[in-house]
Amino acid sequence: MHAIISKLRIGLAKSAVALIHWFDTDYGNADLTAIRAKPDRVEFVRIAPFILLHLGCLGAIWTGWSWTAIGVAVGLYLLRMFAITGFYHRYFSHRTFHTSRPAQFLFAVLGATAVQRGPLWWSYQHRHHHRHSDGEEDVHSPAVRGFWWSHIGWITSGRNFPTDYSQVRDLAKFPELVFLNRFDSLVPALFAAALFAAGHFLGEFFPSSGATSWQLLVWGFFISTTVLFHATSSINSLAHLLGKRRYETADNSRNSLLLALATLGEGWHNNHHRYMNVTRQGFYWWEVDISYYCLKTLSWTGLIWNLKPVPLAAYEYEHPVSTRHRISHPHSHRA
Ligand SMILES: [Zn+2]
Ligand SMILES: [Zn+2]
Repeated sequence: MHAIISKLRIGLAKSAVALIHWFDTDYGNADLTAIRAKPDRVEFVRIAPFILLHLGCLGAIWTGWSWTAIGVAVGLYLLRMFAITGFYHRYFSHRTFHTSRPAQFLFAVLGATAVQRGPLWWSYQHRHHHRHSDGEEDVHSPAVRGFWWSHIGWITSGRNFPTDYSQVRDLAKFPELVFLNRFDSLVPALFAAALFAAGHFLGEFFPSSGATSWQLLVWGFFISTTVLFHATSSINSLAHLLGKRRYETADNSRNSLLLALATLGEGWHNNHHRYMNVTRQGFYWWEVDISYYCLKTLSWTGLIWNLKPVPLAAYEYEHPVSTRHRISHPHSHRA
């Protein structure tokens, strides 16, 4: 009996901590080494909001659709995918260009609307992935743990929840970024509320738009964000499984046009694993990299600068299989 009561107590205490983590992700994370050493285990209370995000898509059964709602969903998908690839990935994780402190904050907020947690957690996990790509330590390698774990399983495991600030010291020196990272449900909650309010406004004043508050919430927040999550995740899973390898990297990263189109340029993942510190990921004109085109355009406005170019050496490779040849005049296509 005693054993059952003490097990219940431990279970309740764990659930209480998981609930606190919905709001304050840094609560009780003092002993990171012990947390990271735990075996992988899905923590359902902690990931309940993530499950709700998926279930919220079913709301479309009741709200129906309108061209306005679909336009908003697609527009927000593209804008937030750019924030994730251009800023969470190429800026915060790899520091491939410079920007001002206010712009850095604004793009961190925009990235946070993607509901992929805070910029420091994202960067910490991503830098860890590059250090251990497809090795035993890699928390989302399809080669080591299989497709589903690399795609979605790893984010449900307790040992991957905390942010190790010691691994992102360059970002942790900005208290405004640490705040966004620690309270990472704040921006998504405000974003969802703003969509609900916008839907209400459209319904009231522009009834011909066909939009309602619930409809805009379902399409703009739940559906757009869920698709965005799976597209981003496909870089962790599919980009290490499908496509061609130009460079003989130590991991299984691949280049795929399909993934590059879906993720605005992240599909050139083998290029990226070989040259992770350059801004551009599609190295040739036919390697479509929309995030890079947007970043290049932003650089003309002066909002960002010092974009790191693709090194000449990147073009001096030989195709590993049958069509061996050297690329001699790459200059017109470089960053
Ligand atoms: Zn990778
Ligand atoms: Zn990367």
